[in-house]
Amino acid sequence: MDLEDALAVQRALRKKRFLANLGFKVLLKYERKPGWNGELPFYMFKCQNCKLLVCDYPHGFEERQYLSCPECGERIDFVRFSTKIKMFFSILSLLFRLRFSRK
Ligand SMILES: [Zn+2]
Repeated sequence: MDLEDALAVQRALRKKRFLANLGFKVLLKYERKPGWNGELPFYMFKCQNCKLLVCDYPHGFEERQYLSCPECGERIDFVRFSTKIKMFFSILSLLFRLRFSRK
């Protein structure tokens, strides 16, 4: 974890640190790193492997996003709730179309 991220975790509100310790992924900040096109959300979370509070941004495609522990490299599944809802309805609509295309 770089110094800036470590400081952000250290300075996070006690309430946010409490939630992260319980296992929630807590939005910590938006940041644009050098070479990026825009800002990305950074989430604070407790790594289940090294038990540290760390922060990272979501990696990968929207349907299979994950956070990666900057200390040990452990991957934590991170598909947003809105994405899950979208996926659910796209499957539902596919099934619906299949059902009626047979007649
Ligand atoms: Zn870790």
